[in-house]
Amino acid sequence: MLGLMQERPLMISDLIEFAAVNHPDEEIVSRTVEGPIHRYTYKECAARSRQLAKALDKLGVQQGDCMGTMAWNGYRHVEIYYGVSGLGAICHTINPRLFPEQIIYILNHAEDKYIFTDLTFVPLFDKLAEHLPKVKGYIIMADEEHMPETSLSNVICYESLMATADDDYQWPTFDERTASSLCYTSGTTGNPKGVSYSHRSTVLHSYAVCTPDGLGLSNAETILPVVPMFHVNAWGIPYASAMCGAKMVMPGPQMDGKSLYELMESEGVTISAGVPTIWMMLLAYMKENDKTFSSMQRTVIGGAAAPRAMIETFEKEYGVNVIHAWGMTEMSPIGTACNLKKKHDNLSPDEKIDLSLKQGRAVYGVDMKIVGPDGKKLPWDGKAFGNLMVRGPWITSGYFKGEGGDILDEEGFFDTGDVATIDADGYMQITDRSKDVIKSGGEWISSIDVENEAVGCSGVAEAAVIAVPHPKWDERPLLLAVKEEGSAVTKEDIIEHLKGSIAKWQLPDDVVFVDELPHTATGKILKTKLRSEYGEYKLPTV
Ligand code: AMP
Repeated sequence: MLGLMQERPLMISDLIEFAAVNHPDEEIVSRTVEGPIHRYTYKECAARSRQLAKALDKLGVQQGDCMGTMAWNGYRHVEIYYGVSGLGAICHTINPRLFPEQIIYILNHAEDKYIFTDLTFVPLFDKLAEHLPKVKGYIIMADEEHMPETSLSNVICYESLMATADDDYQWPTFDERTASSLCYTSGTTGNPKGVSYSHRSTVLHSYAVCTPDGLGLSNAETILPVVPMFHVNAWGIPYASAMCGAKMVMPGPQMDGKSLYELMESEGVTISAGVPTIWMMLLAYMKENDKTFSSMQRTVIGGAAAPRAMIETFEKEYGVNVIHAWGMTEMSPIGTACNLKKKHDNLSPDEKIDLSLKQGRAVYGVDMKIVGPDGKKLPWDGKAFGNLMVRGPWITSGYFKGEGGDILDEEGFFDTGDVATIDADGYMQITDRSKDVIKSGGEWISSIDVENEAVGCSGVAEAAVIAVPHPKWDERPLLLAVKEEGSAVTKEDIIEHLKGSIAKWQLPDDVVFVDELPHTATGKILKTKLRSEYGEYKLPTV
């Protein structure tokens, strides 16, 4: 017998309409590319999202069309999220930090009909346009007054497009499994692959973000997503914030420590979210300028492992609680968040930080397993580590246009490419990317562990560990380190520091100081580049 509940489809347009009705006065504040701070309410955002959908409809945009965006975090980008998906088209966010060849590949692969671009990226499209034959037009996210000089043909001014319609628009209702947005993986090897989210997956993921064991968002919070809207939909925050009516503060193009700090203070931000590189800059600015937070309570660190030194600084020096979280483009992205259980209440501050180093427990909806090389499940004992596999309603079932073929195992799990342990309480800890782990004499050394400890050594700003071939041990770790400005830290200092926390056989065989480390378009250390540069490095132990 079936239950008798209404079958209302889960629609992205309902999120913004819910916010407009239930949190009409709550604000979305944006630092604009043009300069000034823009502020308006969820009610206005919903009206303008409807207006955009109606204008796009008039322009001839149809359900299923891919609409590209290359834009910072800001109110017009939020309207595009809702307007495009709401009308049944697909909002395809593009990461401007990718190489031009990758951008061309992605745009042609997705067959984007129109591209929304912030003023910042118009010069880039001036150069790329000749390689993008399928793009019908470029919608520049500005008003007439700020329209730039450009060689692009078929240019549309966003505000003029808006002026072609009013906000009297009825959102269509359709199958909740309809594609709503598209995001390509940063792909350190091979071509980027598209992950296509649906209305259903996006709404369910938003619930998970709002739960206290997720990011705990609510109307009581003011959230500043530093994570860009072109990186896995800013971790779903623009949707989840509408679901719970959280005030949103959008940093626009200015993501340096000073700009972020000032915006956090002036807007009373209580929670933020971003990758460790961003926090490194913010914390450096605060230290240099002797600043403290007046409203920040929590920060979400994800995208790469949060080093202990960073968690300690946030918690002990600034009283900001760190939520270490893990996920990936293929997972919308939230998989786990490290919130403590009540049994942890009596742990000492240091023990709590030990636990925060883990990436945390699965949010409801995410099913995890770790498996050995033979595909057999490994125990959740916090020690055994294996390939981390996941399944759930906001996890991809396959890549866009079938790239990569069948990617699920017979139980429906997706291989994340991460290697992890899971303890008896369900806390998962990433020990490495499967490609980055160092296989030394039959034992595995976690590059992440060594890196995290190395950045705890005074004078070290950033560190990366890669495997270098070794005749006796197969592979041995080489540490590449960037010194803090003015620091005279030596190889011996770092090794001495590591000895306090890492087993002798896991210590790097050598340390090389570099001016900077290469990063991917999403802020991760680009290990493939380091491996190709230092793969032949002659270790002193050979
Ligand atoms: P992306 O799809 O660009 O978001 O990258 C996803 C990958 O980033 C994951 O598979 C992990 O390798 C890595 N990652 C994300 N969050 C964390 C974290 N908290 N700690 C360690 N690695 C992480």
